[in-house]
This record gives sequence, structure tokens and C-alpha cells, in this order.
Amino acid sequence: MKALMQDWPLLVHTVLDHAETYHGDVEVVSRTVEGPIHRYTYADMAGRARQLADAAQKKLGIKEGDVVGTMAWNGYRHMETWYAVMGIGGVVHTLNPRLFTEQLTYIINHADDGWFFLDLTFVPILEAVQDQLDTVKGFVIMTDRAHMPETTLKNVVCYEELLSEGDAGFVWPKLDETIPCGMCYTSGTTGNPKGVVYSQRSNVLHAMATCAADALGVSSRETIMPVVPMFHANAWSMAFSVPMSGGKLVLPGAQMDGASIFELLTEEKVTLTAAVPTIWLMLLQYLEANPAKKLPDLSRVVIGGAACPESMMDAFEQNYDAQVIHAWGMTEMSPLGSLCTRKPGLSDEEWKVARVKQGRPAYTIEMKITDDDGNVLANDGKAFGHLMVRGPGVSSAYHKGEGGNILDDEGFFDTGDVSTLDENGYMQITDRSKDVIKSGGEWISSIDLENLAIGHPEVTEAAVIGVAHPKWDERPLLIIVAKEGCSPSQESILAFMEGKIAKWWMPEDVAFVEEIPHTATGKISKLRLREQFKGYELASAKAVG
Ligand code: ADP
Repeated sequence: MKALMQDWPLLVHTVLDHAETYHGDVEVVSRTVEGPIHRYTYADMAGRARQLADAAQKKLGIKEGDVVGTMAWNGYRHMETWYAVMGIGGVVHTLNPRLFTEQLTYIINHADDGWFFLDLTFVPILEAVQDQLDTVKGFVIMTDRAHMPETTLKNVVCYEELLSEGDAGFVWPKLDETIPCGMCYTSGTTGNPKGVVYSQRSNVLHAMATCAADALGVSSRETIMPVVPMFHANAWSMAFSVPMSGGKLVLPGAQMDGASIFELLTEEKVTLTAAVPTIWLMLLQYLEANPAKKLPDLSRVVIGGAACPESMMDAFEQNYDAQVIHAWGMTEMSPLGSLCTRKPGLSDEEWKVARVKQGRPAYTIEMKITDDDGNVLANDGKAFGHLMVRGPGVSSAYHKGEGGNILDDEGFFDTGDVSTLDENGYMQITDRSKDVIKSGGEWISSIDLENLAIGHPEVTEAAVIGVAHPKWDERPLLIIVAKEGCSPSQESILAFMEGKIAKWWMPEDVAFVEEIPHTATGKISKLRLREQFKGYELASAKAVG
């Protein structure tokens, strides 16, 4: 017998087609780089994406398989560029503007970026590196004629002029769903950055999985603001999942400070939003300083990319009546892997423990934890080991084979994270394998210590790294940024942590700093902290030595 269903390839443009047909009058709101708030609808977006696709083919010669670089904020022109390029079989390669120059040129050359689309903000960055770019054919500046800057960039095109030469009646070509359509490099902590390549099919499947009620629960009744940038891990799928579900889309552009985010959340009546903890820290600080301001429409905040401290969940839930959905994922996973929502049957006590975990896998993700020899460990919430994942939105290899074979014998990818899995399927990250503190042959979770320390009322940010110790190999050093106007003592911080963790997990020392360094994706840079505290002598180590 043969299955008799139609062959309907999972292509990204079908998402926008659907938004246009069934949610055509729904608004897309963008804070523009030029200043004003821009508003139009999904129908407008779809028409302009087809115009751009037509013009990109005719005027720039972009064809199936070509890689197109973008360096842009979350805004309507960036969305149009994604759909236009992917729709004609091109590969959109998003670049993070916070990368160092050497990484940026390496990545652009390694990916063979041809045409490059950029926001006005980033003209100076590209001007500075253009002579080192081997494959770039020219630059499309994402603005209109009136705002075109003076620039030394060679072969410059004005986005609006280009688009105006295309036909909105353009018909998307028929493509194979397995072709590449998106690319994003991971911040290679060992060796060079590595290219993750998404397919049309993986993006569509991943978006469908993330729309589910126990995942992001995106629907046409929501107003959604992805603060997570489109250049960070596929914008957690929201460039696809939101049009797919027909929700109103709010794109925050370049301004991500507390006041600007608050303004969009309230004026656009956002119900669902998503970003890394650093963004929410800025918003909560802004709200604390302005106690009369509330968030009446906000119902859910997705927090991921780094562990969400319990104190942050409490702040949103108790002070603003917004539910936090803690999420975990990575660029190599499209990126969403797990989301923390309440499983029926959990008692309030059980949920109190579970809700701070990174959550349960969404459909399409399989998970296991293993020891160093690849043996599967118990799902008892206690054993922790290498977190391994498998699914249609998970990388099978890196671009150009970098890093060799990245899968185990069963096809699972090693996330580089260390975690537990419990009886109810909740996964909890205890560390990145390279950040875990190895003390006397046992592992101490730096994330657990950080989450605990940040609950101290006078602490804004906390980081824990392992410092060499003559007897125990490594001991934890707690690094603290105090809240403005506060100067907590080492004793008060340690007393706050005492009794909440095993005695031998207690930080050996507390160092106070003005600022903790962050990576290009807003994570605490343990690498730079380790450099900063290289040779740090713990008081107890001196006693042993
Ligand atoms: P980059 O490493 O370039 O910043 P990713 O977003 O791909 O980009 O990083 C993925 C990593 O971020 C994960 O492997 C994990 O270590 C960390 N991470 C993501 N979400 C969480 C979370 N909710 N809790 C703890 N760690 C997280």
C-alpha cells in the first residue's frame, strides 16, 4: 500500500502565505532605527517580501543556494529580508553585531556571504571590515533614499529603491524542503566559531513545535514581542511561529533598555514576550525605580539563553502577575529544546521545585543524560551528566564539516551542558561542562550557586568560577555586583547561602566587582572572568600551602 497524502513541502514562505490569507489585517509594529514607530499588516509584509524577492533575483542576481548576510535589529525590513531570501532558496546568515572584528570577518568569509543587508546602525562596522571580506558583492542598506548615509562602503544599494523595482505578484518558486535557508554561528568557545545550518523543513517543523500550548503557546489572540534578536539563534523561532499563528507582532528595534521595552509592552498591549535574563533585569530595575508603573496586559515572559534566577520569576509573578516560562535551548537546536510549564498532577510543593528547572522537551526533541563513557544515567533528578539531544531541528554537523562527527552512535548531539532529568521529564541544567567546578573529584554547579547568591537582597548579578586549590583541585569563587547604593559584606552573603546548599559547595571566597563581563549573546563570560581572576589566591589555599 502507498500513503496517499499530498506532497506539500514544508517551505518557509508558506508561513507568510498563511499569515497573509488568514491574518492579513493583523498588525506588525516596529520601532525603527530612523526613529518613528512603523505599522503595517501581514498582508503588507507578504506583498513587500515578494517584491523584494523579485528584485533580489532580477537586480542583485541572488539565486538558490546563495548566502546573504544580515546585520539588523528586529524590524519589519529584516523580516521581509528573511522571507524574501529564504523564499527564493537563498540562505540568510544572521550576524551578531557584538562580535569582535576578527570573528566577524572570519564568519562572513567562512560562510561565503555574497550580498549583505544591514541596518543604518551597522554601517561603521561593515565599513571597517569591508576590505577583509573575500566574497561580499555589495551592501544593501535597510532604509529609504532620504535616510541613506554618506558611506565608504563599496557597491551600496538602498533597500527601498531595490524593493520598489520588484513585483508584488511574484510567485514563489517550488523548492525542496531539505535545502538550507538559514545560518547562525555559535560563539566557538573552543577553536573557531562553527556554522549551524537550518533547512526550510527544520524551521517550519520547529516553529510548529514551539507554537504548541505547552511550549510558547503562540496564538492569534496574543500580541507577541520577541526582544531576543533575530541574530541570536533564529530569534527563538518567533520570526516564524508568530506569523504562523497570526498573532500581532511587535519588533523592538535597537532600543532594549528598561524604559523603551516598558513603553512597547504597555502601549502595544503585549501579552507574550521573550528574551535573555539580562534584558529582564534592566526592565525590573526600571520598574523598581518607577513603582507606579505596572504591566497590565503582559501574561507570559519567556526567559532563556541563560538560567533564570528564582528571584526574577518571583518578581514577575508576584509584582506584575506575569507568568515566567523558563526555556532552554541552543543555536544548534533551532534553538528551543525545553520549556518549563506545569504538568498536571504536580502538587504545589512539587511545582515549586520544578518551576525553576529548564523544563520538559517540546515535541520533536528527545533527551538523555550520559556519563563520560556514554552510559545512560538515571532520570531521578539527582544524577547529572552530559545532556544529549536528537530531533529534526537539531544539528547533524557544522558547516564545512568543522568539528568532525558531532553525534554519538545513536545520533544524539552533545549539547556541552550538564544536567539532571527527573521522573516527570523536567530537565535542569547544572552547568556547562567546561564551567562545572571540580572539587575533590566531585562536581559543584556554578549555576546553582549563582542563582542562590542573586536572591540576596543587595546583589544584582553573581557569577561563580572555579579557582585552583592545592588540596581540592578547584574551589568556587563567588563574584558579585552589588545593587546600586549597597555594599554587602562577604559574611552577609555567605550567611544568606548557608544551609541552602551542601557545606562543601559553599563559595571559598567572595569578590566584589563593578561589572561582570558578558558575551555577544548576553551570557556571563566565564572565559573572561577566568582570565581576570587568573592566579587568584583563596585565603584557604594560602592556609593549606
Ligand atoms: P551562544 O553559546 O553563542 O551564546 P546559544 O544561545 O546557542 O549561544 O547558547 C546555548 C547555551 O546557553 C546552552 O547550551 C546553555 O549552556 C545556555 N542556556 C540556554 N538557556 C539556558 C537556561 N535556561 N538555563 C541555563 N543555561 C541556558
